[in-house]
Amino acid sequence: MTEHIKTICAHAGATPDPSTGAVTSPLYFSSTFHYPPTGEYPQGHIYSRESNPTRATLENVLAQLEQGEDATTFSSGSAAASAVFLSLRPGDHVIINFDAYAGIRAMLKDVFMPWGLDVTFTDLSDVSNLSKSIQPNTKLVWTESPTNPQLRIVDLASVIGICKQKRIKVAVDNTFATPALQNPLALGADIVMHSTTKYLGGHSDLTGGALITAKKDEQWERIRHIQHIQGAVPAPFDCWLLLRGIRSFVPRMTQHISNAKAVAEFLSGQPKVERVLYPGLVSHPGHEIAKKQMSDFGAIVSFLVKGSKEDAIKIAQRVKVFTNATSLGGTESLLEHRKSVEGPDSPTPENLLRLSVGIEDVNSLIEDLKQALS
Ligand SMILES: *Cc1c(COP(=O)(O)O)cnc(C)c1O
Repeated sequence: MTEHIKTICAHAGATPDPSTGAVTSPLYFSSTFHYPPTGEYPQGHIYSRESNPTRATLENVLAQLEQGEDATTFSSGSAAASAVFLSLRPGDHVIINFDAYAGIRAMLKDVFMPWGLDVTFTDLSDVSNLSKSIQPNTKLVWTESPTNPQLRIVDLASVIGICKQKRIKVAVDNTFATPALQNPLALGADIVMHSTTKYLGGHSDLTGGALITAKKDEQWERIRHIQHIQGAVPAPFDCWLLLRGIRSFVPRMTQHISNAKAVAEFLSGQPKVERVLYPGLVSHPGHEIAKKQMSDFGAIVSFLVKGSKEDAIKIAQRVKVFTNATSLGGTESLLEHRKSVEGPDSPTPENLLRLSVGIEDVNSLIEDLKQALS
């Protein structure tokens, strides 16, 4: 884990507040800010759709965590992704993993393809598929590594190298890896996206999204403008909850990861398990690339149950410490049969169960899975 982020997180943007001396970040609910009738606004804020002091503190922390020039936050990860696609023009071509997060695939199919984007869904864990998919109008590669929920690994340095030659922008959904384990901007990506709902929030009590940019270029200005005029901004309280969550982000991740490794190893030895999908296992096809681009392997573990969809659902019905629920990255362990929520056109296998491994006592997690599999 990159050391510098421990201190950034522990402070989470709080320098003692100059007006009161408050050590933690104040929460500014105000939707509007005083400014003189001459039109300039010396304190930097005018209206909270455009900017808010609590949000600005959060954005500054996120930019530091991902080593970017600037960051901007949204009311959800999906709203953040949507702003990137809106910054393109009808007729532009986008390449994305065929197994990317289901909600973003649905957004492209149901909203942006009818709007005029040309989209290719392909397996980016095999880089040769990228070169085959590039067209003269390709403007953006949107990628995710590890992918949700199949945990395929994309060789980010290779994808970025190919795109740089062709002047194609690269945006990386870094929700699963988190800035603690993977920094796509340091590898040359243009934009990083997060569903802050997940590990950065960390307590399953807020919905949020973020974009962090390597450079404040023309496309970034467009994205910021889209955010202002479209208005999918987070509430100040959600920004404050995120700042609070980020303070304990590093020790949470450490515990998540150590539990996930033990769970993945336990599942690997189980007769009712066909295969464990976790990049930390040497048997994972993306293990070597993951080792190269991530400082550790994360805390999402998917596994294929031997048998049918019904066999997988039976196991899901038996867990007691894990909760059957969607989402991930909270302190509590969650389990989900993804195919059921993603729908019939999802590429997720019917016998796949996804675990978001929490920070409980690891033995209680393993005992729970043991009884569910027995
Ligand atoms: C949850 C998730 C999203 C969507 O974020 P929301 O905050 O739910 O809108 C995008 N990508 C990944 C990988 C996710 O897990």
